[in-house]
Amino acid sequence: MRGPSNYLPRYQKVMVMGFSKPSRRPIRYRYTMANSLFYVSLNEIERIKKDISDIFLRAEILADIFRINALYMIRFTGSGHPGSTFSCMDIATWLWTQEMINPNEEDKNHSDIYFSSKGHDVPALYAILIGLGKLPFEMMQKLRRLGGLPGHPDRQTPYLVTNTGSLGMGISKARGMAEGKRLLGKKGRIYVLTGDGELQEGQIWESLQPTANGGFSEITVIVDHNKIQSDIHVKALLAWVSRKRAAWQRGSVFSGKRDGSTF
Ligand SMILES: [Mg+2]
Repeated sequence: MRGPSNYLPRYQKVMVMGFSKPSRRPIRYRYTMANSLFYVSLNEIERIKKDISDIFLRAEILADIFRINALYMIRFTGSGHPGSTFSCMDIATWLWTQEMINPNEEDKNHSDIYFSSKGHDVPALYAILIGLGKLPFEMMQKLRRLGGLPGHPDRQTPYLVTNTGSLGMGISKARGMAEGKRLLGKKGRIYVLTGDGELQEGQIWESLQPTANGGFSEITVIVDHNKIQSDIHVKALLAWVSRKRAAWQRGSVFSGKRDGSTF
């Protein structure tokens, strides 16, 4: 599979039916085909945002569209992590489109923060930022390219608040951000996404309990439990988390287990 040489307009438009989950009604939206790769254009995303008033259905469709565009980016560049990118998409889409106030706009007095501690799922965030018009659409073809979008989160990219990818550091960073906000008198929640395999890192546990016991209720830690790490299943994790859950619940950081793919 390959994409157009170096720009987007050389495409052939095709109309197909995009289906949401079986419980929902089918929604028709337009894919754009660039040679053998597909993406959804910014105009089409804008139309979906305007035409669908049900916030849950809209988020579901947008998450599907962002998955298509993230897959386009990964396949076009020939490198990336589609599994982790896909598994976090519903959570990240909801936060960025419905939940957060002034997301990742650190200069604002009230800004909610989102970042992924595992980091290699960053095509998901890129697809969201591009789909919301916060990054140029041309960046769809510049994943892991010089002058383009880094393969792991980097502060040089607009709306990315921290470099990540070295596993285990997310909760520590979130606490530092929370301390910074308090010192500066700024408001805003901090959502940090971790991988499930990432919970094997000692720093996660070293940072979690002091953060919970310190009363940092502005921090929400979300574990993307997609049951896989790299190329193996995270089989032993559930028992481990069950034992640790009581400790997590003593603070306000961890509130329970949810289906992250149901809006
Ligand atoms: Mg995982």
